[in-house]
Amino acid sequence: MEDCIFCKIAAHQIPSQVVYEDDQIMAFNDINPVAPVHILIIPKEHYSSLLEAGGEATLVLGKIQQVAAQIARDKGLGSTGFRLLTNCGPNAGQVVMHLHYHLLGGDQLAPIGWSK
Ligand code: 5GP
Ligand code: ZN
Repeated sequence: MEDCIFCKIAAHQIPSQVVYEDDQIMAFNDINPVAPVHILIIPKEHYSSLLEAGGEATLVLGKIQQVAAQIARDKGLGSTGFRLLTNCGPNAGQVVMHLHYHLLGGDQLAPIGWSK
């Protein structure tokens, strides 16, 4: 999609530190990491969020979870643990409107919660 920063990263039009890539998926380091390991995993196909990914996305979404687990193992997070999450919409703080999963680890993470 035009003017989507993650579509441009997926097309190698904008540089990124690629951690994994195949024909459907790309994983790259977050530009502003909030944990020692902070990797973004995206489908190359543009979906603005999880809400837009229909049944046709089932396989790629499943594969993203397998890729996330493999990256976590490769980064040595298998025993210490990690978090995989997607922000969807304003209350979750989604900023980039291309479906992406944050893979976080490398230290003790803050508990999931909300701010008032
Ligand atoms: P969101 O809040 O939408 O779930 O997270 C978007 C994430 O994308 C943020 O963690 C932000 O640091 C990251 N990000 C935004 N622009 C870029 C970019 O151009 N390159 C990379 N590698 N990460 C980006
Ligand atoms: Zn996009």
